[in-house]
Amino acid sequence: MQLLNQKYPLTWNKKNFSIKIFCSIPNVATGILIKAENSYFVVDPGDGILRDLNKEIGTKNILSISDIFITHGHHDHVGGVWSLLTYMRVMHKKTPLSIHFPFGCVEIESIYHAFHEVYRRSIPYKINLKVVKGSKNYKSKNIIFKPFPVIHKEFLQDGITTRQVPALGYNFIFGKSKICYGGDTAYCKELADNAKNSDLAIIEAGHDEDTPDEMHMTINEAKVIGESAKEYFLVHIPE
Ligand SMILES: [Zn+2]
Repeated sequence: MQLLNQKYPLTWNKKNFSIKIFCSIPNVATGILIKAENSYFVVDPGDGILRDLNKEIGTKNILSISDIFITHGHHDHVGGVWSLLTYMRVMHKKTPLSIHFPFGCVEIESIYHAFHEVYRRSIPYKINLKVVKGSKNYKSKNIIFKPFPVIHKEFLQDGITTRQVPALGYNFIFGKSKICYGGDTAYCKELADNAKNSDLAIIEAGHDEDTPDEMHMTINEAKVIGESAKEYFLVHIPE
Protein backbone atom coordinates (compact mmCIF):
# COMPACT_ATOMS: atom_id res chain seq x y z
CA MET A 1 0.00 0.00 0.00
CA GLN A 2 1.45 3.32 -0.99
CA LEU A 3 1.59 5.82 1.84
CA LEU A 4 0.51 9.02 0.25
CA ASN A 5 1.55 11.74 2.64
CA GLN A 6 4.21 12.66 0.11
CA LYS A 7 5.17 15.88 1.78
CA TYR A 8 8.48 15.86 3.65
CA PRO A 9 9.14 14.87 6.32
CA LEU A 10 7.73 11.40 5.74
CA THR A 11 7.27 9.33 8.88
CA TRP A 12 6.42 5.73 9.63
CA ASN A 13 6.51 3.66 12.78
CA LYS A 14 5.69 0.22 14.06
CA LYS A 15 6.31 -1.12 17.57
CA ASN A 16 9.11 1.21 18.72
CA PHE A 17 10.71 1.14 15.28
CA SER A 18 10.38 4.36 13.33
CA ILE A 19 11.82 6.22 10.41
CA LYS A 20 11.71 9.86 9.46
CA ILE A 21 12.71 10.94 5.98
CA PHE A 22 13.44 14.63 6.35
CA CYS A 23 14.10 15.08 2.70
CA SER A 24 14.79 13.13 -0.52
CA ILE A 25 15.13 15.44 -3.48
CA PRO A 26 17.42 14.36 -6.34
CA ASN A 27 20.51 16.53 -6.78
CA VAL A 28 19.61 18.50 -3.64
CA ALA A 29 19.56 16.39 -0.47
CA THR A 30 18.51 13.24 1.31
CA GLY A 31 18.35 12.83 5.08
CA ILE A 32 16.95 9.89 7.03
CA LEU A 33 16.71 9.08 10.75
CA ILE A 34 15.87 5.64 12.10
CA LYS A 35 14.91 5.04 15.72
CA ALA A 36 14.73 1.60 17.33
CA GLU A 37 13.61 1.98 20.92
CA ASN A 38 16.17 4.47 22.23
CA SER A 39 18.84 3.97 19.56
CA TYR A 40 19.29 6.36 16.66
CA PHE A 41 20.78 5.65 13.24
CA VAL A 42 21.32 8.02 10.34
CA VAL A 43 21.04 7.07 6.69
CA ASP A 44 22.32 9.13 3.73
CA PRO A 45 23.05 12.39 5.55
CA GLY A 46 22.76 14.98 2.80
CA ASP A 47 22.95 18.73 3.19
CA GLY A 48 20.73 20.01 6.00
CA ILE A 49 20.91 16.87 8.14
CA LEU A 50 22.43 18.66 11.11
CA ARG A 51 19.65 21.24 11.16
CA ASP A 52 17.01 18.51 10.88
CA LEU A 53 18.56 16.30 13.57
CA ASN A 54 18.97 19.19 15.97
CA LYS A 55 15.33 20.10 15.60
CA GLU A 56 14.17 16.48 15.85
CA ILE A 57 16.28 14.89 18.59
CA GLY A 58 18.66 17.52 20.02
CA THR A 59 22.37 17.46 20.82
CA LYS A 60 22.40 14.68 23.43
CA ASN A 61 20.73 12.20 21.11
CA ILE A 62 22.84 13.27 18.13
CA LEU A 63 25.92 12.43 20.17
CA SER A 64 24.49 8.98 20.92
CA ILE A 65 24.27 8.07 17.21
CA SER A 66 26.36 4.94 16.69
CA ASP A 67 26.05 4.31 12.96
CA ILE A 68 25.76 6.22 9.72
CA PHE A 69 24.72 4.24 6.64
CA ILE A 70 25.70 5.47 3.19
CA THR A 71 24.09 4.05 0.05
CA HIS A 72 26.47 5.79 -2.37
CA GLY A 73 28.72 8.81 -2.62
CA HIS A 74 26.65 11.27 -4.63
CA HIS A 75 26.55 14.69 -3.01
CA ASP A 76 22.81 14.59 -2.32
CA HIS A 77 23.48 11.57 -0.07
CA VAL A 78 26.72 12.54 1.69
CA GLY A 79 26.71 16.35 1.69
CA GLY A 80 26.07 16.52 5.45
CA VAL A 81 28.74 14.06 6.59
CA TRP A 82 31.41 16.70 7.20
CA SER A 83 29.16 18.90 9.32
CA LEU A 84 27.91 15.92 11.31
CA LEU A 85 31.45 14.71 12.08
CA THR A 86 32.54 18.21 13.02
CA TYR A 87 29.47 18.85 15.18
CA MET A 88 30.14 15.62 17.09
CA ARG A 89 33.72 16.78 17.63
CA VAL A 90 32.76 20.25 18.83
CA MET A 91 30.09 18.84 21.15
CA HIS A 92 32.50 16.25 22.60
CA LYS A 93 31.01 13.00 21.43
CA LYS A 94 32.62 10.18 23.41
CA THR A 95 31.12 7.00 22.01
CA PRO A 96 32.37 5.47 18.74
CA LEU A 97 30.78 6.15 15.38
CA SER A 98 30.70 3.62 12.56
CA ILE A 99 30.26 4.75 8.98
CA HIS A 100 29.07 1.98 6.68
CA PHE A 101 29.59 2.58 2.98
CA PRO A 102 29.99 0.61 -0.25
CA PHE A 103 33.39 -0.68 -1.27
CA GLY A 104 35.03 1.84 -3.60
CA CYS A 105 33.07 4.87 -2.38
CA VAL A 106 35.91 7.41 -2.59
CA GLU A 107 33.74 10.27 -1.40
CA ILE A 108 33.39 8.84 2.12
CA GLU A 109 37.04 7.82 2.25
CA SER A 110 38.05 11.34 1.17
CA ILE A 111 35.75 13.13 3.62
CA TYR A 112 37.03 10.93 6.44
CA HIS A 113 40.70 11.44 5.54
CA ALA A 114 40.28 15.20 5.18
CA PHE A 115 38.45 15.35 8.53
CA HIS A 116 41.12 13.28 10.19
CA GLU A 117 43.86 15.39 8.64
CA VAL A 118 42.37 18.67 9.83
CA TYR A 119 41.38 17.60 13.36
CA ARG A 120 43.55 14.60 14.18
CA ARG A 121 44.72 16.01 17.47
CA SER A 122 41.29 16.86 18.72
CA ILE A 123 38.76 14.20 17.75
CA PRO A 124 37.24 13.01 21.02
CA TYR A 125 35.48 9.96 19.56
CA LYS A 126 36.55 6.98 17.49
CA ILE A 127 35.41 6.74 13.89
CA ASN A 128 35.19 3.25 12.43
CA LEU A 129 35.10 3.18 8.66
CA LYS A 130 33.19 0.05 7.70
CA VAL A 131 33.48 -0.93 4.08
CA VAL A 132 30.51 -3.04 3.11
CA LYS A 133 31.34 -5.96 0.88
CA GLY A 134 28.79 -8.52 -0.12
CA SER A 135 25.37 -9.08 1.29
CA LYS A 136 25.01 -10.52 4.77
CA ASN A 137 23.44 -9.74 8.11
CA TYR A 138 25.26 -7.38 10.45
CA LYS A 139 24.23 -6.32 13.92
CA SER A 140 24.63 -2.94 15.53
CA LYS A 141 23.11 -2.13 18.90
CA ASN A 142 19.56 -3.43 18.74
CA ILE A 143 19.10 -3.65 14.97
CA ILE A 144 20.21 -6.00 12.24
CA PHE A 145 21.09 -4.52 8.89
CA LYS A 146 21.60 -6.30 5.62
CA PRO A 147 23.04 -4.42 2.64
CA PHE A 148 22.48 -5.44 -0.97
CA PRO A 149 23.94 -4.23 -4.28
CA VAL A 150 21.89 -2.00 -6.58
CA ILE A 151 22.37 -0.59 -10.07
CA HIS A 152 23.10 3.13 -10.07
CA LYS A 153 25.09 4.87 -12.77
CA GLU A 154 26.43 8.34 -13.42
CA PHE A 155 27.55 10.19 -16.53
CA LEU A 156 31.20 10.76 -17.24
CA GLN A 157 32.38 14.16 -18.39
CA ASP A 158 31.38 13.60 -22.03
CA GLY A 159 27.77 13.47 -20.89
CA ILE A 160 27.19 10.25 -22.85
CA THR A 161 29.27 7.48 -21.30
CA THR A 162 28.06 6.10 -17.99
CA ARG A 163 29.69 4.14 -15.19
CA GLN A 164 28.30 2.17 -12.29
CA VAL A 165 28.97 3.85 -8.96
CA PRO A 166 29.52 1.80 -5.78
CA ALA A 167 25.92 1.64 -4.55
CA LEU A 168 23.91 -0.26 -1.96
CA GLY A 169 20.45 -0.59 -0.58
CA TYR A 170 19.88 -1.62 3.05
CA ASN A 171 17.40 -3.68 5.02
CA PHE A 172 16.99 -2.51 8.61
CA ILE A 173 15.43 -5.08 10.93
CA PHE A 174 14.21 -4.51 14.47
CA GLY A 175 12.22 -7.25 16.20
CA LYS A 176 9.90 -8.61 13.57
CA SER A 177 9.77 -5.44 11.48
CA LYS A 178 11.81 -4.72 8.40
CA ILE A 179 12.41 -1.50 6.52
CA CYS A 180 13.94 -1.82 3.06
CA TYR A 181 15.59 1.28 1.60
CA GLY A 182 16.84 0.97 -1.97
CA GLY A 183 18.93 4.15 -2.11
CA ASP A 184 19.30 5.36 -5.69
CA THR A 185 18.82 2.56 -8.16
CA ALA A 186 17.53 1.48 -11.49
CA TYR A 187 15.06 -1.39 -11.47
CA CYS A 188 17.01 -4.43 -10.28
CA LYS A 189 16.30 -7.91 -9.01
CA GLU A 190 18.15 -7.39 -5.72
CA LEU A 191 15.88 -4.52 -4.77
CA ALA A 192 12.77 -6.37 -5.91
CA ASP A 193 13.77 -9.43 -3.83
CA ASN A 194 14.66 -7.42 -0.71
CA ALA A 195 11.65 -5.10 -0.78
CA LYS A 196 9.18 -7.95 -1.13
CA ASN A 197 7.07 -8.44 2.02
CA SER A 198 9.03 -5.82 3.98
CA ASP A 199 6.93 -3.81 6.43
CA LEU A 200 8.06 -0.60 4.78
CA ALA A 201 9.84 -0.16 1.46
CA ILE A 202 11.37 3.19 0.54
CA ILE A 203 11.66 3.23 -3.20
CA GLU A 204 13.17 5.91 -5.35
CA ALA A 205 11.34 7.12 -8.45
CA GLY A 206 14.00 9.51 -9.64
CA HIS A 207 13.68 9.08 -13.38
CA ASP A 208 11.79 11.96 -14.93
CA GLU A 209 10.69 10.10 -18.06
CA ASP A 210 8.68 6.97 -18.73
CA THR A 211 11.43 5.07 -20.57
CA PRO A 212 13.52 3.00 -18.11
CA ASP A 213 17.24 3.80 -17.78
CA GLU A 214 20.15 2.61 -15.64
CA MET A 215 20.23 5.48 -13.16
CA HIS A 216 16.82 5.76 -11.58
CA MET A 217 13.40 4.15 -11.68
CA THR A 218 10.32 5.45 -13.38
CA ILE A 219 7.24 5.93 -11.21
CA ASN A 220 5.74 2.76 -12.67
CA GLU A 221 8.84 0.65 -12.00
CA ALA A 222 9.03 1.98 -8.45
CA LYS A 223 5.35 1.24 -7.82
CA VAL A 224 5.70 -2.37 -8.99
CA ILE A 225 8.39 -2.94 -6.35
CA GLY A 226 6.60 -0.87 -3.71
CA GLU A 227 3.39 -2.87 -4.11
CA SER A 228 5.26 -6.05 -3.17
CA ALA A 229 5.91 -4.59 0.30
CA LYS A 230 3.27 -4.14 3.00
CA GLU A 231 3.61 -0.35 2.84
CA TYR A 232 5.83 1.91 0.81
CA PHE A 233 6.96 5.44 0.17
CA LEU A 234 8.09 6.72 -3.20
CA VAL A 235 10.99 9.11 -2.73
CA HIS A 236 13.62 11.00 -4.74
CA ILE A 237 10.99 12.18 -7.20
CA PRO A 238 12.20 15.16 -9.26
CA GLU A 239 10.46 18.36 -8.19
ZN1 LIG B 1 22.81 9.08 -6.85
